[in-house]
Amino acid sequence: MSELTELYEEVRTCEKCILSQGRTHAVPGEGPENAEIMFIGEGPGFHEDRQGRPFVGAAGKLLEELLTSIGLSREQVYIANVVKCRPPGNRDPQPEEIDACRPYLDRQIELVRPHLIVTLGRFSMQRYFPGASISRIHGQPKRIGSVIYYPMFHPAAALHQPRWRTLVEEDMARIPELLAKLEDIEEEEEPMLGQAEQLSLF
Ligand code: URA
Ligand code: SF4
Repeated sequence: MSELTELYEEVRTCEKCILSQGRTHAVPGEGPENAEIMFIGEGPGFHEDRQGRPFVGAAGKLLEELLTSIGLSREQVYIANVVKCRPPGNRDPQPEEIDACRPYLDRQIELVRPHLIVTLGRFSMQRYFPGASISRIHGQPKRIGSVIYYPMFHPAAALHQPRWRTLVEEDMARIPELLAKLEDIEEEEEPMLGQAEQLSLF
């Protein structure tokens, strides 16, 4: 069993926060173990909780459409969430729940080692852009070492707000550019590995 599969087993039986009490299924995440791109959402909704899989409801359908628009399929990317169990009534995940679940997402990232991390919505954005406002920073990539972090609006928000939908589509359309940039980064003679070296790409 791979370390990632072991992690999934741990998540499925986890009781480290109160969200374990209302779940049908925990939703560990899914995708290739060596995916280049990882999308990080907020937490499971109704359908995800039923099926134990991420982004299988309406927001997932939009995410798949957006991926198709840039020539990718969901099978090619890794899909995770900040919390692995559904908050009751789809309320916001609470800070203590995010903290309790953090080690799972940390380990997922360590094991998959994606080069592009796309945050969907405020809660995953806060991991990498603490204190930032999503309306200000969406679509602005940040590079740390050989990894690019890219904040986007959540597809569920786009479903409810036509204006945000355009922004989500525009931000998604720039991902191929970021993938090309990653190729340049790989070719650099001395990749910058220091956490301190953050820079805007564009
Ligand atoms: N919204 C999320 O943030 N994650 C899912 O898995 C589904 C909907
Ligand atoms: Fe465990 Fe995370 Fe589920 Fe809370 S949300 S019970 S920490 S897997």
